[in-house]
Formats: sequence, C-alpha cells, structure tokens
Amino acid sequence: MKTSRIEEYLDSLFPNPTCELIYHTDYELLIAVVLSAQSTDKRVNQVTPILFSRYPTLYDLSNANLEDIEEIIRPVGSFHKKAYYVREIAALVASHRGMVPRDREVLMKFPGVGRKTINVFLSEYYQEPAIAVDTHVERISKRLGLARPKDDVLTVEKKLMKAFPKEVWGKRHLQMVLFGRYHCKAIKPECGPCPLKDICHEKKKNF
Ligand code: SF4
Repeated sequence: MKTSRIEEYLDSLFPNPTCELIYHTDYELLIAVVLSAQSTDKRVNQVTPILFSRYPTLYDLSNANLEDIEEIIRPVGSFHKKAYYVREIAALVASHRGMVPRDREVLMKFPGVGRKTINVFLSEYYQEPAIAVDTHVERISKRLGLARPKDDVLTVEKKLMKAFPKEVWGKRHLQMVLFGRYHCKAIKPECGPCPLKDICHEKKKNF
C-alpha cells in the first residue's frame, strides 16, 4: 500500500524519467558516471564535451597527459584521482576491443568503478534491471520508510529490489534521483505539495 502510493506519485511526477548525463558511447557514459561521484550531472555535462572532443578516441584518451585531463575535469572535484581513473578506464576499455565489458566482475576491477557506478551503467546503457543507490535514493528511501536510518547502501538496494517489481528497478532509480534533485532535497525539501507527508519520517522536522 505504502509502496504503491510512492510509485504512483513518482509516476505522476516523472512518467518518463531519463538519465541527465550527456554521452554518445558506452565508455563516455561509464566515464561520466565515474566523474559524477560527489559531484553533479550538471558539472559533469560541462566538462565531458570538452574532454571527449579534445580526446575523440580511446587511444587519444588513454595516452593523454594526466595534467591536461585534470585541468579539463577540475570543476567536478577530486580531479587528481578522477583524471587517473579516466585515463585508466580508457586504456582498459581499449584492451577489451573498445567496448565496455558487460560483466560486473570485470567492471569491478576498473579503477573508480564500484557497485553504484556499475548499476547506473548497466541500467542506463543496457536496460538491465538494477537499482543504483546514490545519495538521493538513499535519503528518500529512509525518509519514506523503505529503509531504516542505519541501513548501509547495499541493504537499501536490497530492500528497494524487494519493494519494487524488477521490471521497473531502473525507472524507479531515475525517478528517485530526480525527486531528490528537484523536490525532496537534502536541505529544505519542498514538502508543501508532497502527498507522501503522512508516511514521511522527515515531516516532523519540516512541519
Ligand atoms: Fe520528501 Fe518532504 Fe515529501 Fe517527505 S514530505 S518525501 S521530505 S518532499
């Protein structure tokens, strides 16, 4: 009952949610997701067109000067380690015949790539059923009682996979990200028009 109310509201707000990262190829998406850690899609979208036009092939990117990559991606933060990830990922993808491997175990060995990144990549690029738990998804899950406050991200992911039908995992992930980004924000969520107030654990703090 509670879950279906949440699903209905998310569907009404975002009937056709899409990933806001700009990309043209599988490796561009993977790198964009890696760059988005502790940053925003908006900032990533500011730097990736410059990065991928300066280095238009995997060969170019994997042979790029690290400091030049750092300079381009500086706005996304943590640019030292992210520049290293970008160059290494480009080299690894090149060594896999130029395609990002569609294999979780192989991808886990890529630098800067963890479970959340893999879930976003596989869900977005291949429409594989997966729920990536980022900061928005975690916060909303806990506010709405889909997870407990002390749950770690893997537990939240498992609870969401149980709560939602498998065929909509990717969609629910995107909807929760957008809900968290534009409505149920970390600070000063827009609770006024939200019809989920009666089931929200956050409401006491805001009303
Ligand atoms: Fe988020 Fe406020 Fe709605 Fe709770 S009532 S889900 S905090 S927008």
